[in-house]
Amino acid sequence: MSTPSDSQRMEKIVSLCKRRGFIFQSSEIYGGLNGLWDYGPLGVELKRNLKNYWWRVMVHERDDVVGMDGSILMNRAVWKASGHEETFSDPMVDCRSCKARLRADQVIDKKGVRQCPNCGGKDLTEPRAFNLMFKTYVGATEDESSMTYLRPETAQAIFVQFKTVLEVSRKKLPFGIAQVGKAFRNEINPRNFTFRSREFEQMELEYFCRAEEGMRLLDYWLKERLKFYERIGISRGKLHVREVPEEERAFYSKANYDIEYDFPFGLQELEGVAYRTDYDLSQHQKASGKSLEYFDEETKQKFIPHVVEPSAGVDRTVLALICEAYAEDQAPDEKGKMETRVVLRFHPRMAPIKCGIFPLLKNNAQLVEKAKEIVDLLRPHMYVFYDESGAIGRRYRRQDEIGTPFGVTVDFETLGEKDATLRNTVTLRDRDSMKQRRVAIGELAGTLLADIT
Ligand code: ATP
Repeated sequence: MSTPSDSQRMEKIVSLCKRRGFIFQSSEIYGGLNGLWDYGPLGVELKRNLKNYWWRVMVHERDDVVGMDGSILMNRAVWKASGHEETFSDPMVDCRSCKARLRADQVIDKKGVRQCPNCGGKDLTEPRAFNLMFKTYVGATEDESSMTYLRPETAQAIFVQFKTVLEVSRKKLPFGIAQVGKAFRNEINPRNFTFRSREFEQMELEYFCRAEEGMRLLDYWLKERLKFYERIGISRGKLHVREVPEEERAFYSKANYDIEYDFPFGLQELEGVAYRTDYDLSQHQKASGKSLEYFDEETKQKFIPHVVEPSAGVDRTVLALICEAYAEDQAPDEKGKMETRVVLRFHPRMAPIKCGIFPLLKNNAQLVEKAKEIVDLLRPHMYVFYDESGAIGRRYRRQDEIGTPFGVTVDFETLGEKDATLRNTVTLRDRDSMKQRRVAIGELAGTLLADIT
């Protein structure tokens, strides 16, 4: 259950996201569109940092995984064979009193009497299946023959290209194919900010293996994925592993973990790590008539590999990163009086802007010139932000609020005016401790890179 302070915290986070350009409603000037969001200048950086880091860890740092980028629209036959056309649905209930459309699991059950969570009404329809896939038409005619769906998950593109990728990459089992991309679900009740959206991005790995290795690899990938979250700054204490019970799993799934995060609105799924057996490849082999088998050169056997799938949501992880980072503490203002400081304590790896660069005074040409030189020096290595307007304390605060881990100030010491030994050194400020130290300009890039990569 959320406490009032949790919902207040969430309100502050949503308002900060909008005010500082992380995330705002899609089509806002036309009243928005429910369940759809746009990422602004800072949000897009955060999202890219997350996706790039996932790619680095899951693909570049391994010998046994390659990437691909499949199309969003695919032949409708894919969705028939995968079972999505038939079964990718949520049970839906309508409230006849307030006309609310509800997911059946949201209906309140009071001593066996079903009640609308919206208006308290008891006149509800029976649950009926609502397919979550968005329909669309390919080509000039809009009929059954040209119909397909926006993909509700990225995984199927990997399964249907399994054989091609296997051949071109010349990998041996076990090996994986990774993909990051958009997915679309016509969710009945989008809610909790971006948590349940109708358009979102997934980061999925399909890791193919021999049947006998499936359970071991499921546990291996669960551990790897938990490590990943810690490496992007999500504390282990806020993560919860749920073993999905058999009655909630798809019939073909042998085991499944959900990695959940303790959001202000409750413990909710960030990622599923599922052992999907050989179901998907077998279905596509059967429906397409094309072999999706693996040939083992040593044993001379042909078989359909099993698959373990860690499937994470980009948007949900971005939201978890923001929730985890949001903090308020006390810091002195210009006159030394304590005030509340809002700070996003992002891991430097994830922070949208890595370093703020400030000349102490904007009307001193030498300070400005030196600061701009530092911008040019750091830019090839990281995303930096130059700011010369307002008192230095205010400039620090603006960067604290968007989670910039480092601030560099060019002052009169930098110019060597007070002490020749300090020439070409700058003040380096740490966002979290607010401590400052002097660093030689020549050492700046190396010092910062140690933390952000
Ligand atoms: P849920 O039970 O919350 O609807 P799911 O179990 O259907 O999620 P999966 O099909 O396992 O989700 O998808 C893998 C991941 O994709 C999820 O863990 C989540 O991070 C992300 N995801 C799924 N649906 C959405 C959505 N509507 N909005 C944002 N992210 C989503």
